Amino acid sequence: MSRETSVAMTGATHRALRQLLLRGDGQEDLCFATYRASTGRARRTALLVQPIPPRPGDRDVHGNATVTGDYVLRAANEARQMGGGVALLHSHPAGSGWQPMSGPDRDAERSYANLAREITGLPLIGLTLAGRDQAWSARHWDRGVGREVERTDCVNVRVVDDRLRVFWHDGLRPEPRDTGRQLRTVAAWGHGTQADLTRRRVLVVGVGSVGLDVAVRLAASGLTDVTIMDFDLVEEHNLDRLIGAGPRDVRLRLPKTHVARREALRNATAADPRVRISDRSVCERDGLAVALDHDLIFSCVDRPWARAVLNSLAYTDLIPVIDGGIAIDTREEGSMRNATWRSHVVRPGRPCMVCTRQLDMSLVALDTQGLLDDPAYIAGGGRASGLRQNVAPLSVNVAAALLAQYVSFSVAPGGFGDPGPLQYVLSTHELHHLGPSSSPSCMYEPSEPVGDQRADLTGKDPVAERGRHRARTSPLILRLRRSISGRLDERHWRTAF
Ligand SMILES: [Zn+2]
Repeated sequence: MSRETSVAMTGATHRALRQLLLRGDGQEDLCFATYRASTGRARRTALLVQPIPPRPGDRDVHGNATVTGDYVLRAANEARQMGGGVALLHSHPAGSGWQPMSGPDRDAERSYANLAREITGLPLIGLTLAGRDQAWSARHWDRGVGREVERTDCVNVRVVDDRLRVFWHDGLRPEPRDTGRQLRTVAAWGHGTQADLTRRRVLVVGVGSVGLDVAVRLAASGLTDVTIMDFDLVEEHNLDRLIGAGPRDVRLRLPKTHVARREALRNATAADPRVRISDRSVCERDGLAVALDHDLIFSCVDRPWARAVLNSLAYTDLIPVIDGGIAIDTREEGSMRNATWRSHVVRPGRPCMVCTRQLDMSLVALDTQGLLDDPAYIAGGGRASGLRQNVAPLSVNVAAALLAQYVSFSVAPGGFGDPGPLQYVLSTHELHHLGPSSSPSCMYEPSEPVGDQRADLTGKDPVAERGRHRARTSPLILRLRRSISGRLDERHWRTAF
């Protein structure tokens, strides 16, 4: 299966490389770096790990910059020792935007591609840094061998910093067609930002009350490629919070993903919106592979196991996760004392969900065994998750908090990126900025992205299997009605544009 390719790096790596590649004398320069692979279902990403600065005599910068064989070998051997590959990076000091490959650029990368792959077992990655706007462009030399070695251009390059910067190959992922329906949004942050945001592939994990709202808002803002992941069915007790779902959806035992897709498409403003659905759990191996295809993830699940997987991949695979939740404090006699909702972006440079106490790892083991939802276990004195309380009018506040984090992290209003963890206290109506709280012994915020070498947290997920089983084993008449209703909805969206 041919996969899309991409490159991702942290803001710290971007700054270190910029320092090496953009010279005071305005000449082109080059260097090597190591990378590790992150393999999704449809995308392969090279995660840059460490720049390898040249030593004196390692390269010649007069005219077209060139490197010595010793430098290439040193870089490839360093990469092999860490189980990674090697990237060759160079600058175009006067360039801006995604850079085309000149003949000499192509020949230089091609001449090292075979050697790099022979030593590391992984394809050479080529990157170009444009000096004027510091935009990256990239390719994987992953096809053919010997003289026939060929490159696959990347769809994008992502820099994960206090804001997410994404550089696009306009040929492979063109700017979405302007529909005139996003005029007010474009007026708020300009055409360039809109062209970036609307091309990002965004995953919403969990489409309960919060996830459904988030998915609908993303589609309404013009995003062209949203994936919704959930395995639950719509039930009667969901209806106070699943805005758009109705009694008919309960009668048809519709999966929540179908309702979310219908509502997202109904509100989408892109000319050709794609809302994909997945009935996997992110705790399952193929669910994780789906997640790895995305540029940004919204965590709208309350299950500790799923949150643990997302918490980890924000660091191991450099896919930022926007996470949040609500806690309701109820008095013994049943009245409400307080409610707090939190939101934060999980990414390198920010504390993880465990450090901010948004994830209790002791519950993850119970969740992997399916015990958090098991009535017999809870009745026998086991711990219930305690995360299921919610108040219908408040879930929109959690969605709003996540979306505000998303806008700050994507657009950086006034130059401020993501604000760090926030907590809103309902009783006093105060917003708290929660300070940096990473534990020095945190296991989840490693200094290097490890990609496919990550500790495997996935496994057989009995809760997801039960959910899918319920969808599959509905009576035939229900499945028929579900299919007809889905087709009618589909026709409605197609004719709406
Ligand atoms: Zn941590």
